[in-house]
Amino acid sequence: MPTSPELIATADAHSAHNYHPLPVVVSSAEGAWMTDVEGRRYLDMLAGYSALNFGHGNPRLIAAARAQLDRLTLTSRAFHHDRFADFCVQLADLCGMEAVLPMNTGAEAVETAVKTARKWGYRIKGVPDGQARIVVAADNFHGRTTTIVSFSTDPEARADYGPYTPGFEVVPYGDLAALEAAVDDNTVAVLLEPIQGEAGVLVPPPGYLAGVRELTRARNVLFVLDEIQSGLGRTGRTFAAEHEGVVPDMYVLGKALGGGVVPVSAVVSSREVLGVFRPGEHGSTFGGNPLACAVALEVLAMLRTGEFQERAAELGEHLHQELAALTADGKVTGVRGRGLWAGVDIDPALGTGREISERLMAEGVLVKDTHGSTIRIAPPLTISKEDLDWGLGRLRDILAG
Ligand SMILES: *Cc1c(COP(=O)(O)O)cnc(C)c1O
Repeated sequence: MPTSPELIATADAHSAHNYHPLPVVVSSAEGAWMTDVEGRRYLDMLAGYSALNFGHGNPRLIAAARAQLDRLTLTSRAFHHDRFADFCVQLADLCGMEAVLPMNTGAEAVETAVKTARKWGYRIKGVPDGQARIVVAADNFHGRTTTIVSFSTDPEARADYGPYTPGFEVVPYGDLAALEAAVDDNTVAVLLEPIQGEAGVLVPPPGYLAGVRELTRARNVLFVLDEIQSGLGRTGRTFAAEHEGVVPDMYVLGKALGGGVVPVSAVVSSREVLGVFRPGEHGSTFGGNPLACAVALEVLAMLRTGEFQERAAELGEHLHQELAALTADGKVTGVRGRGLWAGVDIDPALGTGREISERLMAEGVLVKDTHGSTIRIAPPLTISKEDLDWGLGRLRDILAG
């Protein structure tokens, strides 16, 4: 059996270096715990950026996947299959919406939202051909496709990928007046994350999302919320925007929708909005496949009970209390987030986010840095309070030096 360092060296020699993973090679996992090839155990405090909200190897999700694997995995959308209708009904119902357009990855769903909004703009709103504009926020993260990085403000994500897709206007996040000034008659959508994850778990000022809701309604503009990372329980509610009592015109979902088993994403909206598509105008070979639908249906059944949202709220309150205590001696300079999700700014004198992450790894806790000296904490919603406290204890030890 090759060792972790050998596997890392081989991977480095034979793969594009578009990631800089922590030097751990995981070979199995259960619940909130991962095990590397040497048998060392690590507490997963990242949960695949919320793709693993229900933990590794969740028995309900694995059973649903297994049962479906034995029956039917793929038809393509050339034919109907027997899990599709139920998936669409249940997902639309969870969202309080009418219709679903399934894709696979988050970026594909964001692309789908962009295409939907533009088509709605031309066909329903009456925007002159080629003039549709979409307003987005600075420091956004919506994925990695050519069009999506065209409206990124992160040089690492964007540089060298031009020419860029036009039709996007970037305004500061959380600034309602700037957003209002950017909306004109050709604006078809405002696309936002209700909490900016990649930017460091930035929560907008109170009233911002409600203000955007009011503005977009008044100006006949679609309000599109990218809840790919923030949605499906993470913040203590099904959707992060619920904390502000806001319902968008369109949800963009992904990550946890696939239960950490398969990639499943979707755009969920009204019949009027998704009704703009006719056969052949958009699609995906794997989008809405039987295996994806079976796993997502189990995810939706689990979310319907409300227990995961409740758990995220309860444990989240505890998490934020514990993190607030760490700010007392100045070693943690800022904490943001909601529910079981936190961006933690460490005093730069103690190390970069990467260095802190590596030190935590040596103590058996896996997190990921974002920018500068910020680390992101987002354990599976199924984590026990004892494990969460153990992980936070390791952070406390490291900061104590
Ligand atoms: C992860 C993420 C995406 C992109 O999803 P992929 O599945 O990686 O393409 C888009 N938006 C947000 C908010 C995300 O967190």
